[in-house]
Amino acid sequence: MIKICTGCQSTWAGGRFCEDCGGELRDPFGEEAQQLPSTMWRYIRLQYGARRGMIVRVMAILLGPVVAGGALRIAAGWARPWSTVLSIAAIPLGVATWWTIHWSAGRAVRLWVLRRGQLNRRRLARALARRALRI
Ligand SMILES: [Zn+2]
Repeated sequence: MIKICTGCQSTWAGGRFCEDCGGELRDPFGEEAQQLPSTMWRYIRLQYGARRGMIVRVMAILLGPVVAGGALRIAAGWARPWSTVLSIAAIPLGVATWWTIHWSAGRAVRLWVLRRGQLNRRRLARALARRALRI
């Protein structure tokens, strides 16, 4: 959970008060968060995106050996020449699984952050236009 200082707008992993200026920390999903500058939002998205990517990468590290182990188990049930072939292929298969997920996680984070950034900028422009019309 990321929290934002109402005073200096620095971000914190949690807590109630800013350690820099002592200002009150706010939830970025509260109503007052709509007033935050877009650069702030970009940073928040990046933080969440990076965290999401990290979780996927950890999953990839766990899933690689699972795939390799699964291939070995299947190989044990197969007939002689193919069981050897699959046993040898088990490790590269596990590595390939890990690498594919690891690589796509990086891409997904970049895409996610970028797309949300464009969406938010458009919404921000609309909000600014609305405010300008009212004045
Ligand atoms: Zn502060």
